[in-house]
Amino acid sequence: MAFNIVTKNNIRDRFVSHPRPALWKDTDSKDWNNWIWQQQKRIKSMDVLEKVIHVTDEERQAFAASHEQFNMGITPYYASLIDPNDPNCPIRLQSVPKMGELTILDTEMEDPLAEESNMPVPGITHRYPDRVLFYTTHNCPVYCRHCTRKRKVSDPSSSAANQQLEDGLAYIERTKQIRDVVISGGDALSNSDERLEYILSRLRAMDHIEVFRIATRNLVTLPQRVTDNFAKMLTKYHPVFIHTHFNHPKECTQEAFDACAKLADAGCVINNQMVLLKGVNDDPKIVMELNHKLLMMRVRPYYIFQCDMSQGISHFRTPIEVGLNIIEHLRGWTSGMAVPHFVVDCPGGGGKIPLLPEYVVKREGKKWTFRNYQKKEFVYNEP
Ligand SMILES: *Cc1c(COP(=O)(O)O)cnc(C)c1O
Ligand code: SF4
Repeated sequence: MAFNIVTKNNIRDRFVSHPRPALWKDTDSKDWNNWIWQQQKRIKSMDVLEKVIHVTDEERQAFAASHEQFNMGITPYYASLIDPNDPNCPIRLQSVPKMGELTILDTEMEDPLAEESNMPVPGITHRYPDRVLFYTTHNCPVYCRHCTRKRKVSDPSSSAANQQLEDGLAYIERTKQIRDVVISGGDALSNSDERLEYILSRLRAMDHIEVFRIATRNLVTLPQRVTDNFAKMLTKYHPVFIHTHFNHPKECTQEAFDACAKLADAGCVINNQMVLLKGVNDDPKIVMELNHKLLMMRVRPYYIFQCDMSQGISHFRTPIEVGLNIIEHLRGWTSGMAVPHFVVDCPGGGGKIPLLPEYVVKREGKKWTFRNYQKKEFVYNEP
């Protein structure tokens, strides 16, 4: 019997590459596809932003009042995803200042997750028994307006200098219960390939270190950063996990697809940590579409974070019910692979608390009554 082997794979064709804004119409594709060019041409002022989108009075006012506290920075690539005419475009809400940032609530904190107080040495947060967060840079290609680390990100005085890097590595080396290191920032891919390789090689040489994760939003904001050389370099240090931060299906472009493909082909496992944001992704349909696209890009949805208590982001925060409702509309209705954990990172350093809709209707001794995703009830008798 002869098989007809079909090799046509049109998955990539289902992703779009957005047209370039007029400002960069004549830019050489070599430049546009070069991450250093993208980095150098980041939009940092209203004058340039106005050439790309129709800026509203509110945005102009918000920029003037906020940029000294928290810079604006948008790569031309990420700007090309913004709808120039829609002030509520989900890409725009994440990257252009709004007046809501100027409201600071009493319940908000500069360091809501108490990352600074769980620091055995500067640059390391050690909260859980066997893993640490390791800050290696303060920079990011795009400054997300909802960033939880606003206090440090974009502030050059908080940069992880080489001495701090060495002190962090020394702490990890002597603390034998650590087996998992989250290499973070800022954005870990704001480090040069050389600096990252130095960190990876030092960690891989430690016998107690099993895995590390590279925490980066570059796949979303600057996918050109994932070069063939970078992906090839990672293959020497496996197992390498990539933790990224897609928030909206519009961010799942052909460019992002290609960046994920390079990393997945190089053997990396990619996980997504979405932040629940009002007006961006507080809708089960949007999250379902996002998670389906992520799976096609070989990215596994890992967490949905409740927006935390950082200062000046109350306009993004949703009630806890919104997150529970999203899980309710995913579990059972679609692939379990597309259902992440919904977590609240507790103010004060309590760590991540997972929340689920209530599936236990009642428990009578050994008799449990559950309800399924369709709200039908079923009894399970424990032996
Ligand atoms: C989120 C976090 C981690 C990693 O947690 P996982 O649940 O393993 O992904 C580690 N350390 C700190 C301080 C964190 O906030
Ligand atoms: S990439 Fe991460 S650290 Fe950088 S601004 Fe965005 S949320 Fe903050």
